Order: sequence, then C-alpha cells, then structure tokens
Amino acid sequence: MLAYIYKDKGVFELGNKPKPKLLNSKDAIVKITMSSICTSDVHIKKGSVAKAKIGVTVGHEMVGIVEQTGADVKKVHKGDRVTINVETFCSECFFCKRGYVNNCTDENGGWALGCRIDGALAEYVRVPYADCGLNKIPPSVSDKEALLSGMY
Ligand SMILES: [Zn+2]
Ligand SMILES: [Zn+2]
Repeated sequence: MLAYIYKDKGVFELGNKPKPKLLNSKDAIVKITMSSICTSDVHIKKGSVAKAKIGVTVGHEMVGIVEQTGADVKKVHKGDRVTINVETFCSECFFCKRGYVNNCTDENGGWALGCRIDGALAEYVRVPYADCGLNKIPPSVSDKEALLSGMY
C-alpha cells in the first residue's frame, strides 16, 4: 500500500509498505478514507520531535472505515465509519485513569500514531486500543466534516 514516510530529517517520501496486520487483541485495522496534515507533522520533518522514529508513516488526523478488529475490541465493528483519536491510550494506567491520556505509559500509548508507530497518511492504519481511540461518525456528518471538526 502507499504510505507517506519520514525518511530522514527534512525528508518525507511517498513509498510502499505492507498492509498492517492486527498485532494484539485490542487492535483494529482501519481503511483510511480521508486524512490531513498537521503542524506536528512539520515538526517531525524538521527533526524537532525526539520520539519520532525514522521510517514511520506520518499522519495522525484521520477518518476511515473499520476493516478488521481484534478479539477484545467491543465498541466498533467491521464497516463502522470512524474518527481515530491522535492519542492511543490503555485507559488503565495511572495517567489514563486521571484523564491525561497523552501521558499513557503503555508502549503504544500517547502520541504514537504517525510518530512512533505507522500513522494515517497511508491506505490503512493499525490502531492500538481501538475501543478507546475510535469514535463512530453519525450518518449526518460527512468524512470531511468529521476530519475537520476535531471529533477525534
Ligand atoms: Zn496533529
Ligand atoms: Zn494508559
């Protein structure tokens, strides 16, 4: 699949990557229907995000359609149109329990998508803790409206 990749400081490049697979039971695979860029992507490109990994697919403002869910995902199902929260979070650690999901201590928690793990400027994305980070888009709201309204 096509993916927009952080190649090196100052270099983003369109490339090819394998389609993501479920890695654990709380993951979902989402087919991206629309995504946008963010100033934080520019910060990655400039090399000013220390946690960003060379080789990662960038992009963390995104909507899509759930394609596959792990066995422990309960709230969303295949075919659901969803927003994807930029923050992935476990909901169980010290910080998550107090609402500070940006500081989730899980290795896939906090700002991981499009920074430490492959993000959404691609055809598909794997979302850890899908029950926490995916929100169904009401039928009256278009993908574009959802993407731009900050529903994630
Ligand atoms: Zn952003
Ligand atoms: Zn957490």
